Amino acid sequence: MYDVIIIGGGPAGLSAALLLGRSCRRVLVIDAGQPRNAAAREMHGYLGRDGTPPADLLEAGRREIARYGVELVRDVALAADCIEQCGEHPFPTGFRVASQSGRTDRCRKLLCATGMRDELPAFPGVRECYGISVHHCPYCDGWEHRGKQLAAYGQPADKAAGLAMSLRTWSPHIVVLTDGQPLTSDDRSPLLKNNIRIAEQPIRRLVAEAGQLQAIELDGPEPIPADALFFNTGQRHSSDLPLKLGCEFRDTKVAPLANTSRKQKTNISGLFLAGDADGDVQFVIVAAAEGATAAVAINRELQDEERER
Ligand SMILES: Cc1cc2nc3c(=O)[nH]c(=O)nc-3n(C[C@H](O)[C@H](O)[C@H](O)COP(=O)(O)OP(=O)(O)OC[C@H]3O[C@@H](n4cnc5c(N)ncnc54)[C@H](O)[C@@H]3O)c2cc1C
Repeated sequence: MYDVIIIGGGPAGLSAALLLGRSCRRVLVIDAGQPRNAAAREMHGYLGRDGTPPADLLEAGRREIARYGVELVRDVALAADCIEQCGEHPFPTGFRVASQSGRTDRCRKLLCATGMRDELPAFPGVRECYGISVHHCPYCDGWEHRGKQLAAYGQPADKAAGLAMSLRTWSPHIVVLTDGQPLTSDDRSPLLKNNIRIAEQPIRRLVAEAGQLQAIELDGPEPIPADALFFNTGQRHSSDLPLKLGCEFRDTKVAPLANTSRKQKTNISGLFLAGDADGDVQFVIVAAAEGATAAVAINRELQDEERER
């Protein structure tokens, strides 16, 4: 019986593991090893670590948690369920987690730090450029392309219009790609007012060299020169385990947002969410902070239960 199982060993999960390990808790991290920002060469906006390769941060985190006896396994958690209080387990809540390798583990508290996934645009050339000159987040990668020729793509097209307006902070040279979809006059007028070009023809492909975008080929006109493309095509949870456990989410424009308390606690007793998985602000530094917040709340609950025992 672990005190805590953490599903997901990204910044959120490892940060929680560090504090729980330092709280002398028996902790298991189950991690599939597919962090959301795997395509990025550098991580930006993390104070003191700006520009660090994302894999280096995780490697350092894994070394740090090992010092405190936290166990980490490379595996995929496939199912989780609540277990009833019983004689050998005199605590009010518990969970059982079954993983792909066939192992089954039990714990008193469960933290899902399983992250989000981005839906990539479907046209040719995107994968080759992703993380180099094709990005989804201007805060993460806008500065590197400041002042350059930027393209905004979104599905549906009104998302492209909103993204283009936001990109004006980083460059005056913006084109909106609607990929054959019409824009409403409400979406169109702020773009025109801000000198943002609108290209409505269907997109054929991205023209790039070694991942560096050069131009965007459309049906019909000359290719549009572009140094970077930003997209907003939606995102989804990496894992449906929180939902299956009964965790409540509500829809927002960005992502399904979990009804967590300020301490990352969900509506299910003993179940916590941290990092991108809760659907709130999605940055590495925020994920790490939410992991730490959850760890303290989890440890407090464990302490309270132990006092009652
Ligand atoms: C291309 C790109 C660039 C980015 N650049 C930046 C940036 O510069 N700065 C910034 O602050 N943010 C950036 N982000 C956002 C950042 O990646 C996320 O905010 C951050 O990774 C969230 O951390 P997390 O721990 O919540 O999730 P993740 O880092 O996604 O980690 C989740 C972990 O859980 C594992 N997992 C999921 N399901 C299971 C399961 N069922 N069983 C076991 N393990 C599971 C995954 O494999 C993964 O290892 C970027 C994102 C992308 C896509």
